[in-house]
Amino acid sequence: MIKTSTFQIQIVCPGCNNYHAVSGIVDLDTCQNCGKSINVRSILNDRMFGMMDKVKYINGYLAGSIEQMGGTGAYKLLYTSMPPECEECQAMLEESLLLKAIEESKPVTCPACSHKMPVRGADAEIKEFHPKAIGVINDSHGKDGNEKNTDKTEMFVFKCMTCGAGLELTGDTKRTIKCNYCDNENYLPDSIWTKLHPNKEVQPLYLLIEIDENEIKETIDYFLRVTAIRIYSKHFENFIRSYFEKPFVNGSLLVWLKYFLSAKSDKSGFNMNIEDLHKYFYDSMILGLENHPAELKMAAAEYGTNMPVSLQEKLSGDKDDKVRLALAKNENLEKETYKKLQKDKNSNVSAEAGKHKKGFLKGLFG
Ligand SMILES: [Zn+2]
Ligand SMILES: [Zn+2]
Ligand SMILES: [Zn+2]
Repeated sequence: MIKTSTFQIQIVCPGCNNYHAVSGIVDLDTCQNCGKSINVRSILNDRMFGMMDKVKYINGYLAGSIEQMGGTGAYKLLYTSMPPECEECQAMLEESLLLKAIEESKPVTCPACSHKMPVRGADAEIKEFHPKAIGVINDSHGKDGNEKNTDKTEMFVFKCMTCGAGLELTGDTKRTIKCNYCDNENYLPDSIWTKLHPNKEVQPLYLLIEIDENEIKETIDYFLRVTAIRIYSKHFENFIRSYFEKPFVNGSLLVWLKYFLSAKSDKSGFNMNIEDLHKYFYDSMILGLENHPAELKMAAAEYGTNMPVSLQEKLSGDKDDKVRLALAKNENLEKETYKKLQKDKNSNVSAEAGKHKKGFLKGLFG
C-alpha cells in the first residue's frame, strides 16, 4: 500500500539566523539568504519531530506543525498526510500519476495546469530519511529539476564599490566577489543577493512510502501506548479536520481507519484519550454524511467503537446495502441498532445482524 506525506521544512541558518526553506531531502543545503552551507541531514534524520519516533509518525495519518526554537538546528516543520496537491493550482494529484512519474523518473505534470514538479526516486539519502520511501516529488535535487533552476542563467551587473567598474553576476556568484579591475573584495548587499537567489516559498516535498498493514497497526499502538506524547492527539485532530474538508479513499487510509476506529485506550491515564478522538471523528463525519465516500462509511460502520447512537441510526438507514452490511458486522453497537438491522429488507444484512443475538443472551443470562 502507498501512503503519501507532505513536508514543508525551514531551518534557521547558523550564518545569518534567518529561516531557510529546505529544498529537498539532502545532507547539505545552501542558505538562500547568506549563501552559507547548512547541515540539513541531522535535522531530517535525528531531530525532526523532537522525541517522537519519526518513522511511526510518518506512517500514521496525522497533520500538524512542529517548531524547535533557539540554538543551532532550530527548525519549523509543517506536516500533513493529505494527498499531494499541485503547488500552483492546488489540484489533487492522483497516486497513480505520482507512481508513474517515479517509475519513469520524469517530472510530474499537473493534469489541470501543466505545472511540472521534479521527481526523485528513493536513493540512499531518502532511504535514510524513511526506510520504506519509494520517492519524493518536488524535491528540487531531483534529477529532472526543471524551471526551478533556470534563474541561474540570468545575469546582473553590479558596480564595484571601490572603483565603480561593472561586475557581472550570475546565480553561481559567491557572496563575496573580487573586482577584476581594482582587486578589491565586494560583499554583495542583501538587495543584490536576493535578486540572484529569489526567496523561495517553502515548497512542499511529497514523500511516497510503501507500507504494509502491520506497520499501520503499529503506529496506532505506538501513539496509544507511549506516554507523555498526549500533545500529539492534536495532530490526529488536525488530520481528521482536513480529511473531512476533502475526504479521499485509498488502501492505506482504510487500514488506518480500521485500527484507529477500533482502538481502545489503556486506562493508565497518561496516554492519549482515544475516546475523545473517536468522538471528534464521528462528530465531523456526521456532518454531510450522505456525501462521504461509501468506503469511508463502511470502515466506520464495521470498526467503529464508541459510536454515538445518532450515527448508528443514520448508518443503519443508509441507502447503500454495503454500508448496512458493514454495520451489522460491528460488535460494539447499541441493542436497538441490532434490532433494527435484524429487520433489514436485505437478507444478508438481517442474517449478519442476527449473529449478535447470542451475544445479548449471553449478556443477559451469563
Ligand atoms: Zn544564512
Ligand atoms: Zn496545477
Ligand atoms: Zn573595483
